[in-house]
Amino acid sequence: MNKPVLYIVVPCYNEEEVLPETSKRLKVKLSDLVAAGKVSEDSRVLFVDDGSKDRTWEMIRAYHEEDPHFSGVKLSRNRGHQNALLAGLMTAKDLADCAISMDADLQDDINAIDGMVDKYLEGCDIVYGVRSARDTDTFFKRFTAEGFYKFMEIMGAEVVFNHADYRLMSKRALEALSEYEEVNLFLRGMVPMIGYKTATVEYERGERFAGVSKYPLKKMLAFALDGITSLSDRPIQFILTLGLVTTAGGLASLPVSLIRYAKSDHENDTALLQSSLWTVGGLVLTSLGIVGDYVGKIYLETKHRPRYFIAEVLDNRKD
Ligand code: UDP
Ligand code: MG
Repeated sequence: MNKPVLYIVVPCYNEEEVLPETSKRLKVKLSDLVAAGKVSEDSRVLFVDDGSKDRTWEMIRAYHEEDPHFSGVKLSRNRGHQNALLAGLMTAKDLADCAISMDADLQDDINAIDGMVDKYLEGCDIVYGVRSARDTDTFFKRFTAEGFYKFMEIMGAEVVFNHADYRLMSKRALEALSEYEEVNLFLRGMVPMIGYKTATVEYERGERFAGVSKYPLKKMLAFALDGITSLSDRPIQFILTLGLVTTAGGLASLPVSLIRYAKSDHENDTALLQSSLWTVGGLVLTSLGIVGDYVGKIYLETKHRPRYFIAEVLDNRKD
């Protein structure tokens, strides 16, 4: 078997401060992998410039001119991390046998690449990098980030715990990903939908090598909400359940209220009013939930997601 061509896809937004170090370390990593006979000499580090306003693109160009192992793709303007990542992966899909996505700031330990490549060589299509420790993150970042995964789970979005976007994908996994036509990208939730044989590799998440985070809390919250609303319709189901429970409560108290109403002097008995309020409120919520359920279905239909991918076929008439 020919050695696989590996593309390491790195989205960069205003990363001039870290790029010299990142490119140096990735170059060493790549040549080690080539020397170990694990990946092809044609493997590349692919930097995606997400419309940076600093010297990022000039630097990428310089790396490329100096060493053909560096490639670059420049987006027309800043489109955000997820779009930049997808642009890189879709470029790599046609050129490589497998691609690893990682951040430019060296927070993802590049030594995990070896483990990912090993798993790929063993036949895995998707290898998730999973953080084992968050010691270097501030308490606040750790709390919000771990809360993020828990909350996503409750809300019905299938994500791999403590996995960001550091992962290896094989060519056929990338081809599968390319069939998801949605524009609200939440890659770490979409990739698990693909299936195939997967594995995880643990790594310790370090500190940002230099520069500042491009993901302030505001962006992170928007990202979480985006993830939930683009992956799952569970919030709608919550409304439906709430409506049904409220209606049931209202209806259950109605007979008692009616009896009390009939027995009392009809002057200041608010129980009947309360029961009616609950019943009517519950019915409104239930109706909203039902309408929402249809909206949710329409929403999912508009995404035109692929229905399935075939992993293997056993049939001797098919060559
Ligand atoms: N990034 C990007 N476009 C953006 C914001 C970020 O391509 O609009 C890249 C950034 O250069 C980095 C990665 O996405 O390689 C993750 O960003 P960052 O490290 O700032 O996020 P954090 O690690 O703080 O969550
Ligand atoms: Mg970072």
